[in-house]
Amino acid sequence: MISETSPAFDYEVIRSNRRTLSIEVHHQKVKVRAPQGAPDDWIEGFVYQKAKWIARKLLEQADKQADRLKLQTGEIISFIGKTHRLVIEKGANRISLDNDKLVITNREPTYETVKKQLDRWLLSQAKEWLPERVEKIAARLGFSSKLKGVRFRKTKTQWGHCTRQGIVQLNQLILLTPMYVIEYLIIHELTHLKHLNHSKRFWKQVELNCPDYLRAEDWLKQHGHSVWY
Ligand SMILES: [Zn+2]
Repeated sequence: MISETSPAFDYEVIRSNRRTLSIEVHHQKVKVRAPQGAPDDWIEGFVYQKAKWIARKLLEQADKQADRLKLQTGEIISFIGKTHRLVIEKGANRISLDNDKLVITNREPTYETVKKQLDRWLLSQAKEWLPERVEKIAARLGFSSKLKGVRFRKTKTQWGHCTRQGIVQLNQLILLTPMYVIEYLIIHELTHLKHLNHSKRFWKQVELNCPDYLRAEDWLKQHGHSVWY
C-alpha cells in the first residue's frame, strides 16, 4: 500500500552527473542529490525510506540551534577558560570583563550589532593572546621551525586549519571553549605541520602531543555548536 501522508519536511532535489541517490541534512535543510534523469517516484520512494533518519537529523539540528549563544543578558559565556555572565547594556560601544561578567555596551543593542561588536573584540583578543600561546606549544612540541605564522578567521564550520606553507589558522571562537579544548585545538593544528591529513599517524601524533585529546574531541562534539553565534 502506498502511504498518502507526505513527509513533514521539504526537500530540494539537486540533479547532477551521478549514478546514485544521496541525502544530506545541513542547517535544518534537506537536500537530495540525484542523477540527471532520475524519475521523481524513485527519488520520492528514497526519501520515504529515509524519512525517520531525516526527521531525527532535523530534530538534532534544531536542538543544536537552540543551544547557540543568542547574545542576551544572563547567558553564560566562557572566555579563555573562565565563565562569565553576559550583560548587554545600552551605551557607548565597549566590551569589558568585570569579574564574573562580560559586559557589552552598545549604542543600539540588537543581535546583529552586538554580534559585530563581539566579533571584532574576539578577533583583537585572539590576536593578543593566541599567537604567543601557539608559539609556546610549538616550541614544546619541537615544531617551531615549521610554524610560519598564526592567522585568524571566523568560519561557519571550522575551528582551525593548517596550510602547506606552515600557517596555522584558528577560528577566534575557540576562545569561548574550555582551556583544555583551546590547548587541544592548537595542538591539533600544529600537528598538521607534520601530517597534513587525518591519517592514523596524524592521530597517533596528536595523542602523543595531547594525551587528553579524546576528552576535548568529545566536548566539541557535545557542546562545540553552543559557542557559535
Ligand atoms: Zn585537522
